[in-house]
Amino acid sequence: MSREQRGTERTRLRNILTVLAAAVTIAAAGTLTTPAQATPTVASPDPAPLDTGAAVTTPASLDTRALWDGTRPIYFVPTTNRVVFITVDDGIDRNIRWVQLMRSGRWPVVMFPTGEMTDASPAYWRGMLAAGVPLQDHTYSHPDLRWHSTYEQAVQICAGARSIYQATRTKPTIVRPPYGAWNAGTLQAARQCGMRYVVNWDTVVDHGRITYARGYLRPGSIMLLHLTPNFQTDLTVALEAAQRAGLRPAYLTNYLR
Ligand SMILES: [Zn+2]
Repeated sequence: MSREQRGTERTRLRNILTVLAAAVTIAAAGTLTTPAQATPTVASPDPAPLDTGAAVTTPASLDTRALWDGTRPIYFVPTTNRVVFITVDDGIDRNIRWVQLMRSGRWPVVMFPTGEMTDASPAYWRGMLAAGVPLQDHTYSHPDLRWHSTYEQAVQICAGARSIYQATRTKPTIVRPPYGAWNAGTLQAARQCGMRYVVNWDTVVDHGRITYARGYLRPGSIMLLHLTPNFQTDLTVALEAAQRAGLRPAYLTNYLR
């Protein structure tokens, strides 16, 4: 892709996001009642260069057994596909706008709500799931797991998964330790709770600012965002950064099965 094309792509992405932001604002104001009205605006005329997940399959070259040797969490997915993964933690700001944003944009985002956040508003998370957002485990009450026994860590991880299951009837298979903090007990506890992967990140987007732990965005990078009042800004920054790097967002759950 030439620099010019990339510039055009970038402009187009910004336009899509602007339209989307407007659609969400209108929807929040109550004048736009059905998501069906918002979808065509976003999806047409040609598909955005974003991975909706529909056509994504795990590449044959990706051996997930080699990927998960169980000795440390995953910070990025070792793939040569030009993809990045957007993940969103916690769920402090359970604004209905975020469900509408996900539903109208179909961004390939995976969320990690805590059990407490899930129990507080199960219907909200059912809405998120219905909007195409897979939900994964972020423990029950967000402790720093390093200060807890393996048994206590398992109680936290299993309870987080149980809350998600009770709310949505979907079973998490990926756990993200709060603060990215872990020890050997975390890996063991995760296995005990039926988790297939323990996942951290290599890129953070917070308050519209992006921080790279590995210097820049690479194929397989995992981006960490939070469901806060800044979510839309952070999502825009994440999508634009991916665009600039020539990478398309993909569902983490399509790669870590
Ligand atoms: Zn968290």
